Amino acid sequence: MSNTAELLLPAGDPEKLRYAVAYGADAVYLGLPMASLRTPSKGEQFTPENLASHIDYCHQHQVKAYVTLNIFAGNRDIDRMIPHLEQLADIKPDALIISDPGVVNLAQEFAPNLPIHLSTQANTLNYRACKFWQDNGVERVILAREVPLREMAEIHERIPDLELECFVHGSLCVAYSGRCVISDYLTDNTKNSNKGMCGNSCRWEFDVVEKNRPDEVYTLEEDEKGTYLLNSKDLCLVRYLPQIIEAGICSLKVEGRTKGVHYVSTIGRVYREALDYYEAHGVLPSDQVAQWESELMDTGNRGFTDGFLQGKPGGKAYQYSSSQSEPQAVFVASTEGEMDTQGRIKIVGRNKFAVSDPLIWMTPEGTVSFHLDEAIDLQGFPVEFVQPNQWVWVKPPESFSSQGLKWSMIRRKERIPVAR
Ligand code: SF4
Repeated sequence: MSNTAELLLPAGDPEKLRYAVAYGADAVYLGLPMASLRTPSKGEQFTPENLASHIDYCHQHQVKAYVTLNIFAGNRDIDRMIPHLEQLADIKPDALIISDPGVVNLAQEFAPNLPIHLSTQANTLNYRACKFWQDNGVERVILAREVPLREMAEIHERIPDLELECFVHGSLCVAYSGRCVISDYLTDNTKNSNKGMCGNSCRWEFDVVEKNRPDEVYTLEEDEKGTYLLNSKDLCLVRYLPQIIEAGICSLKVEGRTKGVHYVSTIGRVYREALDYYEAHGVLPSDQVAQWESELMDTGNRGFTDGFLQGKPGGKAYQYSSSQSEPQAVFVASTEGEMDTQGRIKIVGRNKFAVSDPLIWMTPEGTVSFHLDEAIDLQGFPVEFVQPNQWVWVKPPESFSSQGLKWSMIRRKERIPVAR
């Protein structure tokens, strides 16, 4: 049995795609806003005009590209997807990710050359459902997040020639794999969850109003910060990678197309290192796992849970004290890789930081704790603080190659990790 699996990272926009590729993705998933869940509302986006070049970029780096068409489609969406599918048939991504049976059928007609992966939004929970989809031309099923490990293994045993994918990291919904209209209701249909625009409304703070006394609002109080009844912790399964791979899962998916470049880079780096380690040694040592989990907390998180992997999660899977996604480090700077003849690299502030702050410098080659000697602004003057969007020259750590430094991310540790 193979002791590795594909690492599948989110590519919410072209910049995130490039970082996902640099930080170790075997495959990325991306999509046009018109057909795709969890799309960014601002900044550079994928368009029909640029999609082919981004898929080419992946292929040039030996990374697969899966295109999402996983909205819950109405009649009009079906009509609008036909030209998109015809274009995809030409530009040949490695697969389409689809949730709706009508869109599966449409793709088989208008892009018959492309493999279909059934989206997790289709809520596939059992081997008969998997068999049904396989019989209907689906090459891979992305299992619902609610499938426990032992049932993943059983599905694989019963249908060994069906590819199975599961989520290993990222936000969890309180609804079944995102089948949810909470956001639609609470944002007056301006943020439709199943059209890629969820407002995370389940995580808001709620009060109770009794029907006959509409003017009296009862505050639900857990502590001074409030009560967040529907606020799940985030999934984090790095410690279970061996069992998941042994269960027959061939692709390990990270959620988060709307999250930033620091998120995709950090999560990608950690899971890449863990997968490579497991492939080389056949085990994941517990002290190393603790270190990886701590690093995963350096990006936004609500605390970590195993989700449904071992069975139904209890109350510990919820974060009651805050609905914020809080990292234990702050992403303070990145770079476009420009270096001068003195070996200095140009970095740009993402959040304000002091030049004297203890920092962690991350590249696809690893991380090092680091102190800057100095930072020189573009006018040639030393600065004490670097501000957001300010460019400065700094001397990087010597541990990285110039290729690695091109993808540098710099963060400042803020707090001690919380227990799972
Ligand atoms: S509102 Fe909450 S449960 Fe619904 S889709 Fe958004 S994150 Fe998921």
